[in-house]
Amino acid sequence: MIKLKNGKQIDGIRSAGSVLSRILAELKAQVAPGVRTADLDATARELIGRLGGRAAFLGYMGFPAAICTSVNEAVIHGIPNGRKLRSGDIVSIDCGIELGGFYADAAVTVPVGTVAPDIEQLLQVTHESLYLGIEQARVGNRVNDISRAIYRCIKSRGYGVVRPYCGHGVGLAIHEDPQIPNYVGSGKNPRLKPGMVVAIEPMVNLGGDDVVLLDDDWTVVSSDRTVSAHYEHTVAILESGPEILTPWE
Ligand code: MG
Ligand code: MG
Repeated sequence: MIKLKNGKQIDGIRSAGSVLSRILAELKAQVAPGVRTADLDATARELIGRLGGRAAFLGYMGFPAAICTSVNEAVIHGIPNGRKLRSGDIVSIDCGIELGGFYADAAVTVPVGTVAPDIEQLLQVTHESLYLGIEQARVGNRVNDISRAIYRCIKSRGYGVVRPYCGHGVGLAIHEDPQIPNYVGSGKNPRLKPGMVVAIEPMVNLGGDDVVLLDDDWTVVSSDRTVSAHYEHTVAILESGPEILTPWE
């Protein structure tokens, strides 16, 4: 069931999104060669606590950290650990927080030092696809309008679109209906209504579409082990148009 949010609830989600944006901006700035993904998680935990929120991912279905850190061929759900980032890597940082009972979810992929031109291009196109999807998050459109815009952008460059994982409703919980796929499938295709709040999150492989789950039962990697990018915003669908509630840029 899709839960429409009233103005007061959207205010609450906007506040959570504002705090989350500050956290992601700090984490982006911390990324550098030699930094461990566990260092990023420690920063996230400290900031979330200091800013009065709660890490929504920590303990969610048993996830052991406040953020997901997915390096290179990892698509999503990477677990922070002692691995040191190296120049040329990319790391996706995905964070969800709860603040005052409201939830926001966002992700950014950050280049470490200098990355190869083809990887730089992958990041640019994945980010662009997120914005093309957000542009379609309008009252009267359907979920498939978001999905199609993302898919066309990614496929026009020949990249792989991750299908088993997708965006979602968010706001009163970290994951709500509806699903927001990054491709046009045959599933439910609800009409977008004022008060819907959705997390839009393209996940894009430099190679093929397929992904596999690693033995840690969390980390999703591209099957061909090509690098993968992931960007996400929480977006409110309002009569006036889409509003990004997690402006981490
Ligand atoms: Mg999400
Ligand atoms: Mg996320």
